[in-house]
Amino acid sequence: MKIAFIGLGNMGGGMAANLVKAGHDVRAFDLSEQALAAAKEHGCETFTSASEACEGVDAVVSMLPNGEIVKSVYTSDVIGKAPQGAVFLDCSTIDVATAREVAEAAEAAGYAMVDAPVSGGIAAAEAGTLTFMVGGSNEAFAKAKPVLEGMGKAVIHAGQAGNGQAAKICNNMLLAVQMIGTCEAFAMAQKLGLDPQTFYDISSVSSGQCWSMTSYCPVPGVGPKSPADNDYQGGFATGLMLKDLKLAMAAAETAGVDTKMGRRASELYEEFDADGNGGRDFSSIIQTLK
Ligand code: NAD
Repeated sequence: MKIAFIGLGNMGGGMAANLVKAGHDVRAFDLSEQALAAAKEHGCETFTSASEACEGVDAVVSMLPNGEIVKSVYTSDVIGKAPQGAVFLDCSTIDVATAREVAEAAEAAGYAMVDAPVSGGIAAAEAGTLTFMVGGSNEAFAKAKPVLEGMGKAVIHAGQAGNGQAAKICNNMLLAVQMIGTCEAFAMAQKLGLDPQTFYDISSVSSGQCWSMTSYCPVPGVGPKSPADNDYQGGFATGLMLKDLKLAMAAAETAGVDTKMGRRASELYEEFDADGNGGRDFSSIIQTLK
């Protein structure tokens, strides 16, 4: 397929390279010269505008920083510029309302569109092992699936437009709450005289077991290798978790849901981020409990 790829940063760079490896003809655009040069090295053809990259394509994939940028790129450079019949896939993490608004505008102009945010970080983007949660009509999903399969290991249809974003922020809100709970349990266990490894041995096979404990333990030297074993470098940055929590809180307000634990987790990550920890892995919040 001929695919335009817009936004070749930390995530998009690896995703576009995997589309090339899967045999697609990738037409890349980014505002950054450096990102474009890297995309060229990975076999993409590069262009000086998004609208030029969209000429003659079967699909447009975007991986951009936020909803405002997604809306502006689609409304000014993609809708009406890509050929009729093309499918649009926005893989960025953005708010549900903007995802629905852009999909509606695309559909009104005769295009199929899905929101397809990802689970998995930069390493998964490079390895082609992302999970995509996809919102859009059955027809749009069927058109988007072969493109997404070139970049991930799982592609799940979540329902109507915007539902991919809804799944992503609900999942990440749960993860934030679960991580803080896990950190509190380890901190308290230690204060009560329990060795962290002993607490892990017990809780990991008891009812407190969860992903934050057994796959991503926030205590160095306990559980499988995690960012805690690398001084909380790499992994999922606090700043990105905070971005997702803010999107979750905005969605909760729109939907009229009182997510008390989610709100508290959002406040705690906001304080932690403001203290200069935005670039550190989100499990390092355990250090505020010591
Ligand atoms: P990034 O900042 O590394 O990349 C974004 C790219 O978009 C940059 O190269 C930037 O130059 C480009 N860009 C910005 N405005 C543009 C425009 N108008 N036209 C063309 N290009 C433009 O960010 P990232 O880490 O790759 O994240 C991208 C998206 O993926 C975000 O929505 C983020 O929330 C989501 N995400 C990131 C991770 C992660 O671990 N980094 C994990 C899951 C989801």
